[in-house]
Amino acid sequence: MKALVLKEYRQFAIEDFPVPTLQPNEVLIRVRACGICGSDVHGMDGSSGRRIPPIVMGHEAAGVIAEIGSAVTGWTKGDRVTFDSTVSCGECWYCGRGEINLCENRRVLGVSCGEYRRHGAFAEYVAVPQRILYRLPDNLSFEQAAMVEAVSVAVHAVERTPLELNAAVAVVGTGMIGLLVVQVLRARGCGKIIAIDLDDGKLALAKRFGATHAIMADESDLQEKIRALTSGRGADAAFEVVGLPATVKTAIESVRKGGSVTLVGNLKAQAELPLQAVVTRQLTLIGTCASAGEYPTCLDLIASGKVNVTEFISATPPLEEGASWFERLYAGEKGLMKVLLKP
Ligand SMILES: [Zn+2]
Ligand SMILES: [Zn+2]
Repeated sequence: MKALVLKEYRQFAIEDFPVPTLQPNEVLIRVRACGICGSDVHGMDGSSGRRIPPIVMGHEAAGVIAEIGSAVTGWTKGDRVTFDSTVSCGECWYCGRGEINLCENRRVLGVSCGEYRRHGAFAEYVAVPQRILYRLPDNLSFEQAAMVEAVSVAVHAVERTPLELNAAVAVVGTGMIGLLVVQVLRARGCGKIIAIDLDDGKLALAKRFGATHAIMADESDLQEKIRALTSGRGADAAFEVVGLPATVKTAIESVRKGGSVTLVGNLKAQAELPLQAVVTRQLTLIGTCASAGEYPTCLDLIASGKVNVTEFISATPPLEEGASWFERLYAGEKGLMKVLLKP
């Protein structure tokens, strides 16, 4: 089969690659669309240590079942599917609790990190275990389905957050995930959704996607503006979707006493914490990572139009053009959001 192989750091080749051999509990999927994730772009230069060549990357995919392992039940050739980007073991203490994102033996498709090498979906075929498969609603395209991982990050973050009906919520950072958080909060029934960013283009998008208010992050009276919108108290909850010290601070300052701050972004590994404000204002800080079984909800949100993902799809080039699209994403080309390769 054809595969896009990372041969050396920042060096790709389209190669003839062996079709994966199936374990009894696996299905073979003919990949129809696979998204280039930020973690692939950052990983391809070796900086993350999680894409050690040679590796076929790609973990955000959708396609059609082409072959069934001998122990697989309930799936047939021709089924349209997507799958969890991480392969959980199904056996550890966390998996037993349904916290599959915290699995002790979690492996991400398309990752090689020294500990393991698992080829991914920038190829004509990929093999995945039955327990991470999800059926696509009929009206969902492969391209939309390949966006489900990003949606699931937003849905999991919102699910982790205590939100009363009609809550006032601040979203700090409106890149793709932040904009998905805005849409999920709208579906969740929030009263006020206050988008905060440094890019007025992204803020305009946030308003189109359901933000009730948009404020530039560098406005000196940012906190007064948030309080003016929330009866002088501050937001009930905030989502930090950047991961820098300044934006963490903004998120913490934007919530009322007793409010919660859900931390989604982690561009930096460390951020200073306004400890006294967190303690004396009795705030709740919530970490959130990936997702844990929310895919069916996400697929339904996309299929019903409650969450729009097509706006984020910048291009759908063939697999052969993968290398040049990786370079454009690596260079940080403005306006490029999600690129889906089609093997
Ligand atoms: Zn991803
Ligand atoms: Zn596990």
